[in-house]
Amino acid sequence: YTKDNSGNALKIYTPTLSSKRVERFNMETGLRYALERGELVVHFQPQISLSTGKVYGAETLLRWQTPDGKTIQPGDFIPLAEETGLIIPIGQWVLEQACLECKRWIHAGMPSLVISVNISALQFQQEHFPDLVRKVLKDTDIQPFNLCLEITEHTAVQNLEHSIKMLGELVEIGVKIAIDDFGIGQSSLLWLKKLPVHIVKIDPSFILNMIEDSDDDAIAKAVIEMSHSLGLSVTAEGVETESQLQRLQQLQCDRIQGFFTGRPMSSDQFIAYFLEISSWMS
Ligand code: C2E
Ligand code: MG
Ligand code: MG
Ligand code: MG
Repeated sequence: YTKDNSGNALKIYTPTLSSKRVERFNMETGLRYALERGELVVHFQPQISLSTGKVYGAETLLRWQTPDGKTIQPGDFIPLAEETGLIIPIGQWVLEQACLECKRWIHAGMPSLVISVNISALQFQQEHFPDLVRKVLKDTDIQPFNLCLEITEHTAVQNLEHSIKMLGELVEIGVKIAIDDFGIGQSSLLWLKKLPVHIVKIDPSFILNMIEDSDDDAIAKAVIEMSHSLGLSVTAEGVETESQLQRLQQLQCDRIQGFFTGRPMSSDQFIAYFLEISSWMS
């Protein structure tokens, strides 16, 4: 510590490197056992089709419930899981859970639901990743059209040649491909033409202020129009208000996902959610 002029001790708050390393080590050890200890849980956030008002599907979102009762959000542990390679077994588990729950939903009367799963860059780099997808589809007995794999724009453009080959194999299986967080990366629209993908997900940062900020509105409009002219459909993420929903409907956005239509929820809650919406529709 240092002393100021009045002679009071001032603590220096910059954490030392070693305490950061201890924290990281503890988290890494915890994460290593999280899977086998059953501390990881998947939640599902509804995606609503704007033309029909019906539930299109849900995105699978991972959470870590630690033994001391805390819930850690993916933004706080997925990067570590990627650095340590733990994302490989964790990602496989998420894919299996998602497809298993989807099978339950199909049995509960929702045969055409699409379950979306986030795929990290490391998983996407694995040459045998398509084999895993085929195996999980077979083991859980769901159809390829029930599954959508989300990869970020950043992952997709890292190695275009690899992406074209990998996505080609995945599309051949029959699963859908969505480009996540679209607009915040090095967006060359050209590569969208080259990659075999079906869905573009507009990043929440453009939706958040689209009503107040005409630039954000212009970007959302341009992404929707461009995607449609390339034959792709569009999901807007982070829709929190009715005016955003109405504006996106006006812009002919295909579907929305956000707190306005539903927060991430358990699989049972999702079934209840679906049944409630269907009863409004009929
Ligand atoms: P993402 O794939 O873009 O997921 C959407 C994120 O936006 C989720 O955050 C979701 O809770 C949040 N969100 C949804 N609607 C709204 C809204 O209306 N307003 C706001 N402010 N936020 C909204 P979450 O669950 O914290 O996940 C963050 C990121 O972590 C995900 O972004 C994804 O990149 C990653 N992630 C989550 N689960 C997995 C997983 O199983 N595997 C991998 N590799 N990454 C995952
Ligand atoms: Mg996603
Ligand atoms: Mg996203
Ligand atoms: Mg994101």
